[in-house]
Amino acid sequence: MKDNPMKRSDCEALDRADPFAIKRQHFHLPQGMIYLDGNSLGVMPKHVPARVQDAAQKQWGETLIKSWNEHGWFHLPRRIGDRIGRLIGAPAGSVIAGDTISVNLFKLLGAAAKLNPQRRVILSDSGNFPSDLYVAQGFRDLLDDGYVLKVVAPEEVMDAIDDSIAFTMITEVDYRSARLHDMKAVTARAHAMGALTIWDLAHSAGATQVDLTGCNADFAVGCTYKYLNGGPGAPAFLYVKPDLQDRVQPALSGWWGHAAPFAFDLDYRPAPGIIRNQCGTQPILSMAALDAALDVWDDVDMAALRAKSMALCGSFIELVEKRCGKHGVTVEGPADLASRGSHVSLHHEQGYAVMQALIASNVIGDFRAPDMMRFGFTPLYTSFADVWDAVEILARILDGREWDQPQFLAKKAVT
Ligand SMILES: *Cc1c(COP(=O)(O)O)cnc(C)c1O
Repeated sequence: MKDNPMKRSDCEALDRADPFAIKRQHFHLPQGMIYLDGNSLGVMPKHVPARVQDAAQKQWGETLIKSWNEHGWFHLPRRIGDRIGRLIGAPAGSVIAGDTISVNLFKLLGAAAKLNPQRRVILSDSGNFPSDLYVAQGFRDLLDDGYVLKVVAPEEVMDAIDDSIAFTMITEVDYRSARLHDMKAVTARAHAMGALTIWDLAHSAGATQVDLTGCNADFAVGCTYKYLNGGPGAPAFLYVKPDLQDRVQPALSGWWGHAAPFAFDLDYRPAPGIIRNQCGTQPILSMAALDAALDVWDDVDMAALRAKSMALCGSFIELVEKRCGKHGVTVEGPADLASRGSHVSLHHEQGYAVMQALIASNVIGDFRAPDMMRFGFTPLYTSFADVWDAVEILARILDGREWDQPQFLAKKAVT
C-alpha cells in the first residue's frame, strides 16, 4: 500500500488527464447512477435511438425490401465485422457479425473438428462460461463419434495441451475472476502440438488489447452487448484466420453463406472467405443499433484503452482493500493488473445482499454465485470519480450493515 492513500481529488486529477474523458458525453448515463455493469450490458450511446428510428421508419417503413440494396442491409454483417476487426487485431474480411456467441461457437466447433479430423479431444477449462461448455457438450453428443470434452483448471491449460487435442475452446478473460489467459502462449503451444484454437472474447472485445493476428489465433467469437455497447441481444461476431477461411466446411450451411444465395441452387456451395460462416437472415434493426454504437470506437487507440482499464481496476482494488478489507471483503483473481481483464469481483460472505443494497443506492454491479460481487470498468465512460464514489458507498453499506435487511437478503431471478 502507498504511503499517501488516494483521495477523491486524486481521482478528479486522473479524470482531467484522461484521454477518454471526452467520450463520456456520448453515452446516456442515467442521472445519479454509477453504472459498473458494462461487462454485462453496455450503456447506450446517445445517438443510437435516432439511428434505429431511421432504420425502422425510413428504411423499413418507406424503402421496404429495396433497402437490402439501397441501404446496404445485406452487407451490414461484413461491414460491421470489419469495424469490430480493427478493435481485436483482425484484418478486413476476417470477422463477420451475426447470431450469438453460443451459435457461433457451434459453427466453429464444427469447422475446427473438420480441420483436425484425426483427433477427438476438445480442451476447455473450468473458468469458462457455462454456455460455451453446454454448446460443446451438445456438439459432442450430436457427433456421437468419440469426441471428448476435457475440462481442466485454468492454470492447467498449458500443460493439458498435448498431441491428443484437436482444438482448444478457451475464454480469454474469466467472467468471474477476470483472470486473463495468455492468448499468444496458449496458441503457440497448441500449434506446436498440432491443435487449433477457438477463443471466446466476450469479456475482451472493447475491454482489453486483443491482437488476433499477432497471436496467430485460428478462430474467435465474441459478443457486442457487453463492452461494445451494441444493445440488449446485439449480434455477436465470429473470426476465422484468413488462411483457414476457404478450408472451413460450415456446419450451419444456410443460404446467407452460399456462394450465390440468389441463384437458389438446390445444393449448398460455400461462399469464399468469411461469408460462408453466415447462416440465415440477420436482425437488421439490431445491426443498425450496433453499427451506430461502433461510431464511438472508430478513433479509439486500444493500447490507451487498456491502460485506462488497468488504472480503473487498480484504483478500485486499492480503495476497496483500504476501506472494506476489515469487513472480510477480498479481491478475486490475480493481483497483477496485467493478468486481469476489465472487471473486478469481490468476495463477501453476504455478497448477494451487499450487492442488492448497492443497487438500492444506485451503484449498479452484479452478483455471481456463490459469494461474488462483480464490478465492470468500461474505459470509455467510467470515470475515476465513479470508482471513488462507488467504494465510498460500498464502505458505508458495510460499516452500517445496511445490507442486513430482508429486502436485500431475498434472491431475485436475474442476479
Ligand atoms: C456473455 C458470454 C456469453 C454469452 O453467449 P450468448 O450466446 O451471446 O448469449 C458466452 N460466453 C462468454 C464467455 C460470455 O461471457
